[in-house]
Amino acid sequence: MYKEFKNGRIFAGRLNFNDDILNALTEFCTIHNIKTGSISLIGALQHAKVGYYNQSEKKYNNSIEFNKKLEIVSCIGNISLKDGQIFIHAHIVLSDTNGNTFGGHLIPGCNVFAAEFWITEFIGEDLVRAKDEITGLYLWNE
Ligand code: ZN
Repeated sequence: MYKEFKNGRIFAGRLNFNDDILNALTEFCTIHNIKTGSISLIGALQHAKVGYYNQSEKKYNNSIEFNKKLEIVSCIGNISLKDGQIFIHAHIVLSDTNGNTFGGHLIPGCNVFAAEFWITEFIGEDLVRAKDEITGLYLWNE
């Protein structure tokens, strides 16, 4: 499936020291009623936690925690609706002091040192997630 959109509002901003990335971005999108769109973010974290989806078990494994200071090499994601709520799906790539990278599915637990984000709103029909029986994930459905 796919849908075609037009660009809507464009936002650029920064999160505050200690903000949780996913919670802060979800709150921002909810306050500004951004129901569909794309998100990018770069910066640095004081502490990180990411998820990994186990395809065989059809569930997220226990979160992977990084208790160190990290660069956010890239964090990209999208905004759509799940259960009538604004929902962000994003992935994050992090790097350590040696330049080694790792990452995963963005979950709460990524605490900002500094972070700049930019969001493009998409204008069109709502993009809605629904449970997909094959993958067990909430995928774009209509
Ligand atoms: Zn994901």
